Amino acid sequence: MKKYALVTGGSRGIGRAVSVKLARMGYDILINYVSNAVEAQKTLDAVRGEGRDGEILMFDVSKRSQVAAVLEAWQDAHPDDYIEVLVNNAGVRRDNILVFMPEEDWHRVIDITLSGFYNVTQAVLQPMLVHKQGRIVNVASVSGIKGLAGQSNYSAAKGGLIAATKALALEVARKRVTVNAVAPGFIETDMTEGLDKAALKNTIPAMRFGTPEEVAELVGFLASPHAAYITGEVISINGGLYT
Ligand code: NAP
Repeated sequence: MKKYALVTGGSRGIGRAVSVKLARMGYDILINYVSNAVEAQKTLDAVRGEGRDGEILMFDVSKRSQVAAVLEAWQDAHPDDYIEVLVNNAGVRRDNILVFMPEEDWHRVIDITLSGFYNVTQAVLQPMLVHKQGRIVNVASVSGIKGLAGQSNYSAAKGGLIAATKALALEVARKRVTVNAVAPGFIETDMTEGLDKAALKNTIPAMRFGTPEEVAELVGFLASPHAAYITGEVISINGGLYT
């Protein structure tokens, strides 16, 4: 029987690295994206390069009916399979100080990160509970732990995601489903393009940004059998930026 992992926002950055890591661990990967089909295909090529297969699933995690329709169609096409690992990774930032933040930017960030978690997790949770085996890893942020100026929307969304991680972990632990969060600091991806890297590096004790592959190793560990007794945790990966 094939084992499946779903990575939201798997087309680029951390999501691509996580997809490759989970493929290396023996999973076939469902690569979600919203707008960048070319990059999603590159992730699928990389997954195949690891000797596994995958599928590209287009949906906007914030759109509940779209998420449900795509994942129900996948389940109907795979009646004997289920998604054993879910990585809620899709995310955006729309930074602004609160006093100037447009309402649209407040809602967009929260809809994708927090409602996206709800929409996608609810669509795949029941089979994990039935099979008494599942792993959910939520990609949060240092911003959701300490708060960052200019990111009240993003900090609220990631802080909410961390709280939801802890609550859901308690609900499903007895069914051998673990729910954890990772909280990256600054990672080299499209999301951090345009930031003043030289200045920011000086604020990080490790004096560098992290790589998507370093985050993927942590996500892979939390998805692995070795992490069966870890649940409801949020693990920072930030080069010492905030401890
Ligand atoms: P990225 O390179 O900008 O990639 C974002 C990914 O999310 C893309 O695959 C994108 O799909 C997808 N996405 C965006 N909106 C979506 C939606 N509505 N529905 C489905 N997919 C959507 O970002 P990244 O740096 O890899 O970030 C990945 C996660 O790590 C995010 O949750 C982010 O908040 C978090 N994080 C990043 C950092 C960092 O420094 N980079 C630090 C802490 C936390 P398309 O390609 O189709 O646009």
